[in-house]
Amino acid sequence: MDERTVRPPEIAANSRVDRAVLKAAHFAAKKHAVQRRKGAAAEPYINHLLEVAELVASALAEPDTNLVIAALLHDTVEDAGVTKEELIEAFGSDVAALVMEVTDDKSLPKAERKRLQIVTASKKSVRAQGIKLADKISNLRAIVASPPTDWSVERKREYFEWARQVVDCLSAPNQMLKAEFERLYRQVESLSSS
Ligand code: ZN
Repeated sequence: MDERTVRPPEIAANSRVDRAVLKAAHFAAKKHAVQRRKGAAAEPYINHLLEVAELVASALAEPDTNLVIAALLHDTVEDAGVTKEELIEAFGSDVAALVMEVTDDKSLPKAERKRLQIVTASKKSVRAQGIKLADKISNLRAIVASPPTDWSVERKREYFEWARQVVDCLSAPNQMLKAEFERLYRQVESLSSS
């Protein structure tokens, strides 16, 4: 066999990872194509998903491709009408289970969904807690950078306090992400008290 045509195994393995992650990014981009972030800048929703996935990936001590994929897909069931079965079919049962763990039950009233996020936070798997925390960081950053135009200072404060409660209830938060959340929260606090 010609040596030059044989690729080192680590490159072959990496390219499979690349392909799987990009497949999820493309899937999410298509499913959320018409959705925008609530802020005044109305950023494409995929920006949020890429940010959450990047946060999760950079906080991991060991590579976990399925977790990064689940981070990209974390809002597809809740916001884009994707089913668990569809996720199993395209990405496998581990990814689907992770996405379902961070999906709110939209048949419940909003206040109840928010309450449940607090009371169920500690029962989530460590991996799902990583997505939750990264999601809250991304949402806080968005509200600081480009708040929804119809949100009063009070409404923003309520959101920050609720996010704080969810994060405080996580039983196994990733320390790097927790530190970033704390940094942001302090920044928000100093903004609203000045
Ligand atoms: Zn999200």
